[in-house]
Amino acid sequence: MRITAIHESVESIASDIQNAYINFSKMTCSVVAVVTDQLIDGKPVVGYGFNSNGRYNASGILKDRLIPRLLEADPGRLIDGDGYLDPHRAWDIMMTNEKPGGHGERSVAVGVLDMALWDALAKTQGIPLYQLLAERAGRQADSRVWVYAAGGYYYPGKDIVGLQDEFRQYQDLGYTVCKMKIGAADLSHDCDRIEAALKVVGEGNLCVDANGRFDLKTALAYAEALKQYRLFWYEEAGDPLDFKIQTALSEAYDLPTATGENLFSHQDARNLLRYGGMRPELDYLQFDCALSYGLVEYYRTLSVLSEYGWSSRRVVPHGGHQMSLHIAAGLGLGGNESYPGVFQPFGGFSDELTVIDSYVGLPTSPGLGLENKANFRTMLVSAFGDQLRI
Ligand code: MG
Repeated sequence: MRITAIHESVESIASDIQNAYINFSKMTCSVVAVVTDQLIDGKPVVGYGFNSNGRYNASGILKDRLIPRLLEADPGRLIDGDGYLDPHRAWDIMMTNEKPGGHGERSVAVGVLDMALWDALAKTQGIPLYQLLAERAGRQADSRVWVYAAGGYYYPGKDIVGLQDEFRQYQDLGYTVCKMKIGAADLSHDCDRIEAALKVVGEGNLCVDANGRFDLKTALAYAEALKQYRLFWYEEAGDPLDFKIQTALSEAYDLPTATGENLFSHQDARNLLRYGGMRPELDYLQFDCALSYGLVEYYRTLSVLSEYGWSSRRVVPHGGHQMSLHIAAGLGLGGNESYPGVFQPFGGFSDELTVIDSYVGLPTSPGLGLENKANFRTMLVSAFGDQLRI
């Protein structure tokens, strides 16, 4: 098995939303198509990959460094002992001549290609990716994955009604647990919003996300005010790399916290566990493979977790995309984020899947099943239709 071509495109993943830090009006996304020489029904197997929301496209790194390295490599160095594409070997080739640390957008670029390589591998074997991962892990794949609805935006002028309407829509879609943004208003107004949200979702079903906005003092002031609400979790209070804030939070707030979506390597994850005061029996970790060097690196991150006494069930990845859904089912994570209706066509799951009581089933088609999502398929035709017979 060998790679015959890699196509790359930059697409919009813009949404008319904003959190405490950024708006998403100009958000872009890299998409790749890795074409192989394996034929199924007379057509070459093609793996697709993209990056998650929250970071912009990594086109420059893909075009200048990573794609040329894969295409110029001896094809024999990219396959495993059975002749299949080996994403682990490909990872080493992509990272040739890259210094450690300073992960930045490089981890995004690797994540995009890593996703496509796993998609191609599972398609070649004719099974969904979660099944391939479970078989390799020597376990039975989960038959469904817990998901929660992320959103809870600000609605200037109709903040309370808008928020409640949004969460009612998520409930109609089958979600029980919902997440809302905080930190873009003052504490008093955010408390009003939280109380309004709880009237819809009920105690124990609400997460809040500050998107790394708070300094130490504000993070602790919110923690004190939030205690009374018995939240599902309090997410990313301070800067993702400020482990002192996370530690102080763990000491002051005896309910679950969550963080990790902006940590992009197993070394960063390890530092969080070493120095962030996170509690394995209580807190949640949200590393997103599509932003953090892909599944090959995710295996290393999960290994670090295990080393520090964490169950993989405490991991609920950021991003709301199907790669994390497969990893969650195949490797036994705790769940997956979901963004109903936003970050399209990249967010969300296959069209045939529905959410029931905050759990979603798994696709049955080989690979990731991205092509089964109609608007994703439309994007693929637009991006690669000239090069590929999609
Ligand atoms: Mg978040």
